[in-house]
This record gives sequence, structure tokens and C-alpha cells, in this order.
Amino acid sequence: MADQLLPLAERMSQIKPSPTLAVNAKAKAMKAEGADILNFSVGEPDFPTPEHVCEAGIQAINERFTRYTAVPGIPELREAIVQRFKEDHGWEYAPEQAQVSCGGKHGLYNIAQALFGPGDEVLIPTPYWVSYPPIILLAGATPVLVPLEEKDDFDLTAENLAKYATSKTKGIILNSPSNPTGAVFSTTALQAVASMAKDNGWVVISDDIYDTIVYGDEPLPHILDVDPGLKEQTIILNGVSKSFAMTGWRIGYSLGPQHIITAMNKIQSQSTSNSSSVAQKAALAAVAGPQDFPAMMKESFVPRLDYILKELTSMEGITCVKPNGAFYVFPNMSAYFGRSYDGKTIEGSVDMSAYLLEKSFMATVPGAAFGADDFVRFSFAASMEEIQEGMKRLRKALEQLS
Ligand code: PMP
Ligand code: GLU
Repeated sequence: MADQLLPLAERMSQIKPSPTLAVNAKAKAMKAEGADILNFSVGEPDFPTPEHVCEAGIQAINERFTRYTAVPGIPELREAIVQRFKEDHGWEYAPEQAQVSCGGKHGLYNIAQALFGPGDEVLIPTPYWVSYPPIILLAGATPVLVPLEEKDDFDLTAENLAKYATSKTKGIILNSPSNPTGAVFSTTALQAVASMAKDNGWVVISDDIYDTIVYGDEPLPHILDVDPGLKEQTIILNGVSKSFAMTGWRIGYSLGPQHIITAMNKIQSQSTSNSSSVAQKAALAAVAGPQDFPAMMKESFVPRLDYILKELTSMEGITCVKPNGAFYVFPNMSAYFGRSYDGKTIEGSVDMSAYLLEKSFMATVPGAAFGADDFVRFSFAASMEEIQEGMKRLRKALEQLS
């Protein structure tokens, strides 16, 4: 026994560490060692958390608001969340229908634990955010990947849904704007989801974490606007990580049918108890306070998006769907697969990202991490100078492949 490791739980064979966080850690470590790294990997705003939000956190500490809070979150934050949804969308929720979690990722974990188990299938439009399949697997359920096509601008179609839905389908995860594609689901796509969800009693999980970052003048279509009758079957997942540049504070929230939120609270009471008391006070300042910060941040992304898209699509062999939201571009780089450097052949997106990191000191996330190996994700939540330098390096790196 002495030289044998203790065995881990069977479920550990099903999951890997988050690839986005892993690339970010590698890029940061290389930078710390002095490498001139451009980090286009992890998805987090490059802005500091707004001053008034930080002040609210500091005040919470000064007032020693440092004890356990109510499991679902402090009442004033839940009140502010439902108020914000009412103001922004006209959707009515009671504060008891809101749960505050340790980030949106943890909110989804609670949702999955409350709703899904062995034998259940959950539809995941693909390319997907890296944590969806593992979170479904950790609940003992089966992720069913529904491929979205570049030629359809990564929109869902009724045909696609029908092809992957079975009698075991229990729910679907929508993410619009999407990480990694930046695509926004059309009203037609959401109508198809609504109709199938109604007919088959599915739960719709609407991950709206990027809903403040939408480009163009069209309002963001939402499942609850498309079919308000679906409210008893829908859970909204959101948070302040992206909208208020608060990724490190770890505050997310979910809104949904009371019995599901109550079940999620049971899980939270037996796992994390509550999210940080101090971070909840900061999130309260974000949600209840002025809303100009997310709008300002969005505006700052527009020229960066225009630039990176223009550059990428001017490079030989690259195609890239124009994102309608979020801060990612997801170019198709498969034209370069099969080419070589230093005697190594680039077989797919993992090799391409490795090449860019090794030779050009650019951190990106391989599309394989999102279930789409032809692509590579670049976050453009970086300065314009970094993006300009990055595109120069990319052009050169691609030219050097033989
Ligand atoms: N959903 C999506 C699509 C995301 O990209 C993220 C980013 N991490 C999250 C949820 C969760 O964010 P967080 O846990 O930082 O609130
Ligand atoms: N959602 C971000 C990303 O995709 C943050 C990292 C993570 O939570 O996976 O990069």
C-alpha cells in the first residue's frame, strides 16, 4: 500500500480541470518568469471593479459585516436583484425566488445538483462554455452536445434540437451571448426551444452572464420574452463577474421557480453555506447602484472587436463569425491544420494554441476545450495595444508555418 496512491472517487475519471483557468495559470506563470506574454486566454474584463463597489466591500469589513449570512444571500441583495430584473426586463420575481451563489459557475452547479441525476440528459448547444459538461457529469447526468454550425452563425435550429432530444431529455442550457462564439440566439431559435420545452416539460437554464455586453442596436432576444409562459420552467443564471468586472469576488445569482430555488438552497446550506458576506455587500452596490459601468465597458469593447475581427478575417484561410456579444472571437483556423514548424505538425486547435504560446507568446484557448476543434478562442478583453501586437504576432506565426 505504501507506494500506492489512495484511489479517488469514480466520478473523478470523468472530469478534467477547467481548461480556461489552466491556460490562464500557465500564461501568468510564464509572465512571472519574465516572458513577454499577451494573454488572450481567460474571459475576464480588463477593468478594475468600480470604485463605489470596492468602497461598499471596504465598508462591510469596517462595519464587521463578516459573519455567516442567510444561505440564499442577504435579503437586501436578493431584493435588489429582483428589482433590477423588473426594471430591466419587466419580469416579476419574489426575493425568495433568488439565490446568491459563489459565482455564476457555482450557481450552475447548484442548479444541476438540484435538477439532474443519473438517466437524465441535458442538451448543450456546442461550442459550449467549458464548465457545462463537467457540471452536468458531476450531477450524474449525461450532457448531450447539440452542434451549432459556423454557416448558421452558431444559431440553434429546430431541426438540430429535434435531432438530439430524446425521451430522457430533462433540460437545455442556453448561453446568449455565447462564450466562446459571441453569438446571440435569434428569436426563431428561442421559439423552437420554447415550443419543445413546453411540449416535453424541459427546464430551460438561461445563462445570461454576458447580457450587458451586446453589440448593435437590436435588443437581446430572451426566452422569457419569447414565451413568458415558460417562467415556471426557466432558471436564469447571472452574476456580477462580467458586468461589474468582479470575477474575483465570486458572486453569481439564479432566479427561478420557488421549489427549484428552495432545493438549491438546501444544497448550498450543506456545501458553501453562503457566499462571502463582504462580497455580497459589494454586489449590492453593483446591482442596486448606477448602471453606467457595464454600458461604458461595452462601449470600450466595440473598437477592439472591430479591429480584431478585421485583422483576423484579413489573414489567409481564417474565417470568423462576427460576435454579437461578449468579449470573445472564435476564428476557424482549421486551414492551418496539417502545417508544420520545427518538425512538429499542427493537428488541431490544441497544437495551434500551443504553437502560439510557445513561439509567439500569445495565450489563447483551443476550440477543443469548447467542443469545437476547428477554432481557437481569443478574448479581446485586453488593451488595444496588446490586441494590435497580438495580431501582428499571429500574422507572422501563421506565415511561418510550412
Ligand atoms: N457562464 C459563462 C458562459 C461564463 O463564461 C462564465 C465565466 N466564468 C460563467 C458562467 C461563470 O462566471 P463566474 O463563476 O465567474 O460568475
Ligand atoms: N468564463 C471565463 C472563461 O471562459 C472564466 C474562466 C472560467 O471560469 O472557466 O474564460
